[in-house]
Amino acid sequence: MTSILNRQVNATDLVQSGDFLGFSLSFPEHHPAFDYVTEQGIRVEVWDSGIACLTPAQSTTQDIVLSCGIHGNETAPIELVAKLVQDILTGVLPLTCRLLVLIGNPPAINAAKRELVDNLNRLFSGHHSKGDFTPSWERSRAALLEQAVLRFYQSVEEGRHRALYDLHTAIRGSVHEKFAVYPFLHGEPWSEAQLRFLAACGVNTFLLMQTPASTFSYFAAQTAKAHGFTLELGKVRPFGQNDMSRFAECDTMLRKLLSGVGLDLAPFAEIAFHFFVVSRSINKQTEQFKLCFANDIENFTQFPLGTVLAEDGGAQITVDEVGEAIIFPNANVALGQRAMLLVKPTDIRGQTAP
Ligand SMILES: [Zn+2]
Repeated sequence: MTSILNRQVNATDLVQSGDFLGFSLSFPEHHPAFDYVTEQGIRVEVWDSGIACLTPAQSTTQDIVLSCGIHGNETAPIELVAKLVQDILTGVLPLTCRLLVLIGNPPAINAAKRELVDNLNRLFSGHHSKGDFTPSWERSRAALLEQAVLRFYQSVEEGRHRALYDLHTAIRGSVHEKFAVYPFLHGEPWSEAQLRFLAACGVNTFLLMQTPASTFSYFAAQTAKAHGFTLELGKVRPFGQNDMSRFAECDTMLRKLLSGVGLDLAPFAEIAFHFFVVSRSINKQTEQFKLCFANDIENFTQFPLGTVLAEDGGAQITVDEVGEAIIFPNANVALGQRAMLLVKPTDIRGQTAP
């Protein structure tokens, strides 16, 4: 099978070119594990298609997971991660931490689709095997990605710095172009160090979740005890149509983080951020569900009180609180699934730790 990138990259080619994306898209469903050592002494363990654990020769204190392509059509983060990893594998970028690279859904990337059957980012924390379901690529992939993250963290001693950045782009544009979903921490404080790092990546808007979720970032935070984030870095576009300059800050900061260059972060100041919490989650109840605003309405758009946002069978969903804004509206989800979130501004005074 040829990938949409029109190149066949086998294991030998990967060792020479560092083209981990091309390799993963050439063997989208599965590849037997193998490993090798780069000229710079980095041990590269390919655990499967789209899953690689990189360990530098020198001792390290940080274990970072970078994931992209959990949704197959979110191409900009896939291009960003692919280039970054290629630069590490070919000696252009030094690596001073352990790194787990995850290209989430290679078959969906080849198909230029968000998903083949199931939304991968609704399947974590065991949701891949809960309830009545038909087996799918995404369900087995979610289980495999969970195992990979746990194996990555559990194969070194505890107490090291753990982070997982799950990179996405959104279906719509956004009033706040870049934003992060900060998963529910069960009352633990939000991390100022992480907020400062992500601000330097160009992300100053955070949705602070107040309930468990089936997302990869919640799995990272709750089960893997890592600082976990879903990063929404812009709008979905096809391969080759991304303006990568819009991702430059994020690229620069990730490269600094991985190569051990001083991050030189600004001090934490709440005023520099926008924080939101979910006020309501709107699930699709009938096949007649429809959104009552234009397709190009952006995430975080606010509407006047009483505005009808959606109709679902006979029911109307209206704006009930001043300041309520929409996020992630998508009428094209399965029955019972989330079709939209309504959010409202909040503050985090007294709820952070350094
Ligand atoms: Zn996504």
